[in-house]
Amino acid sequence: MVSSSPSAGVVRSDLYDAWLFDLDGVITRTARVHARAWKRTFDEYLQHVADRTAAPFVPFEIDPEYYSYVDGKPRYEGVDSFLRSRGIALEWGDPGDAPNVETVCGIGNRKNSLFQQVLEEEGVEIFPASIALIGALHDQGKRVAVVTSSKNCDLVLRTANLSNLFEVRVDGNTAAARMLPGKPKPDTFLAATEELGVPPERAVVVEDAIAGVAAGKAGGFGLVLGVARQDDMEALREHGADLVVRDLAEITLE
Ligand SMILES: [Mg+2]
Repeated sequence: MVSSSPSAGVVRSDLYDAWLFDLDGVITRTARVHARAWKRTFDEYLQHVADRTAAPFVPFEIDPEYYSYVDGKPRYEGVDSFLRSRGIALEWGDPGDAPNVETVCGIGNRKNSLFQQVLEEEGVEIFPASIALIGALHDQGKRVAVVTSSKNCDLVLRTANLSNLFEVRVDGNTAAARMLPGKPKPDTFLAATEELGVPPERAVVVEDAIAGVAAGKAGGFGLVLGVARQDDMEALREHGADLVVRDLAEITLE
């Protein structure tokens, strides 16, 4: 029987003019730093709620709760989504809320300050194969953008010495300024293709998060490439990835 599915890891380069890369977990290993900062933030808060209500303290589990409710989403939406899964509905608050204010924004801001602290202490690790692939794409004259929910994109890229890697950046600050809904909505990826002047069907979305591959599918992009850092190949396929690899070293441009 002849299969019509593409061979694992082979991408027909001539079909696409632009590549849109997620940042955390695709280019940089910051997903782990994010997960740790989220765990500390939520555990402190859940402990606080447990003390107040005499209900048992049930810690935040990175697997599955981080991946199901938080990973890849804009910060405040991640807070709201996880807390609701635990039956906690907080007021949204204001992005200017201090990190000790009991609102969605306050808790998100607490996480952000912990994240920046860890970043400064430990630096940023990169995925070398991702940088190598981007180099090969540049050599072929392809357009390359970064599309991330992170409002720390500039800080992360500077810390990793990657400030010149991307022609176009759409990050959490761009999304807030232009009022673009975050992943799993496709709008931030569509803003990147629009800025590059490339139609979505001629663009590849590269994502490690469920919300991210879902955004790629929703936007009608030419190829949604999932990077299964968490051994979650099936989940990425189910949510819209056309092709899934464990690392971009497995990708061959044809
Ligand atoms: Mg990611």
